[in-house]
Amino acid sequence: NIRIRGRDCPKPVLTWAQAGLAKGVMECLMEERKFLSPTPVQSVTMPCLLSGRDVIAVAKTGSGKTLAFLLPLLRHVADQPRSQMGDLAGPIGLILTPTRELAIQTYREAVKLGTATDSRIRVVCAYGGAPIAEQIGDLKRGADVVVCTPGRMIDLLLSSSGKTTNLRRVTFVVLDEADRMFDMGFGPQVLQIVQNVRPDRQTVLTSATFPKQMEMVARRVLTRPLEIIVGAHSAVCEDVTQVIELFDEQSAKFLFLLKLLGDWYPARANRVLVFVDRQDSADMLMRDLLRRGYPSQSLHGGKEQAERDQAISDFKSNAVPILVATSIAARGLDVPDLKLVINYDCPNHKEDYVHRVGRTGRAGRKGTAVTFIVRGVDDKHVPGICQALRASRVPVPDDLSKLSDSFTARLQAGQAEAPGRGFGGRGLDRIEQERQLV
Ligand code: ADP
Ligand code: MG
Repeated sequence: NIRIRGRDCPKPVLTWAQAGLAKGVMECLMEERKFLSPTPVQSVTMPCLLSGRDVIAVAKTGSGKTLAFLLPLLRHVADQPRSQMGDLAGPIGLILTPTRELAIQTYREAVKLGTATDSRIRVVCAYGGAPIAEQIGDLKRGADVVVCTPGRMIDLLLSSSGKTTNLRRVTFVVLDEADRMFDMGFGPQVLQIVQNVRPDRQTVLTSATFPKQMEMVARRVLTRPLEIIVGAHSAVCEDVTQVIELFDEQSAKFLFLLKLLGDWYPARANRVLVFVDRQDSADMLMRDLLRRGYPSQSLHGGKEQAERDQAISDFKSNAVPILVATSIAARGLDVPDLKLVINYDCPNHKEDYVHRVGRTGRAGRKGTAVTFIVRGVDDKHVPGICQALRASRVPVPDDLSKLSDSFTARLQAGQAEAPGRGFGGRGLDRIEQERQLV
């Protein structure tokens, strides 16, 4: 189920060996990790990138997009002359990601595979919220690959009057989770960075969803791209069982959550991720759960970076098996034993739903996602969720489709207001306000 748009697309690779990987990388993938063959998005994307083309890769969450761009990027970097310390050479490979968490995750992967490719590849990670001085030091010592969030990258480019790092050598740019970066209002920064990289660069853009507005941006930064779409747009992976719970009252949600957790608790080897829509709701729900004896922690943009890192590592190690988070955790977070995602507060657009739900059912494992919808409160989000269910070929429950139809009818009659779209929406102010809340 792969569609490719664009001319002269190279043949997909079916094995790692066909992708021309270094021996060390093959061992790392096949023996250590037991990744026996590339995933569909990897098998199509890798040869396109290795042949020097620009690529837009749209594939559902958990389909392995990271390796799809990272392996070609590392090979590209390994083939370039390495910079000398002190000659002010900036990186060759630049990976922009929307969140700090994702930057760290990608950085770890890049270090591991980079070492296996060529032990001299130096990878540096840079994101906001951590002390900038250390990152400046890292960059000054020389970097071949930089994984960063857009805002911090601009700060670093401007620091020490441009002596920290520069974009002169960058020839391979990755915009990972591009839709999210634009969603979060990083669009201007991303464009500012990309437009300052030499035009003969190679550019990759990955995303799980691909809204129309994104397509226009893509056309601006990519040259003759091959567009690779695996599965339907905005679809949830079939390994996730999607359940919708309708409530008549907001207050009924907590009891139902306790019931779900009660069923899950005996097998607490699995992790549970609970999404809410605001920072304060995350902290409140965490407190309520702790009071009921459920070990939980909260994660949102209002916390210090160190606390956020700690929450994620406690969650990954199962020290604290329940994480209550805002959508900040919806992208990129990869926890293998995450079996249950609960949308305690209804996600406010289709893409957000797809990303939240995609935290489970990763890499062929099964998972369940339960979404709470309160009649009269969440109606405006129901049509988007119905679309996501249909796109992933899940039958829409009757009462849900009725709710969706009646909302759409009211909307058309001018009796209801459309939900604000995450992307574009009503300008940067609103995005800024929303960013303060998650
Ligand atoms: P995406 O960015 O598409 O959401 P990731 O790149 O984070 O997905 O990969 C999801 C999971 O799949 C990760 O745990 C990763 O280690 C695993 N994975 C990646 N490639 C393979 C492969 N070829 N075979 C098996 N598992 C893989
Ligand atoms: Mg990813």
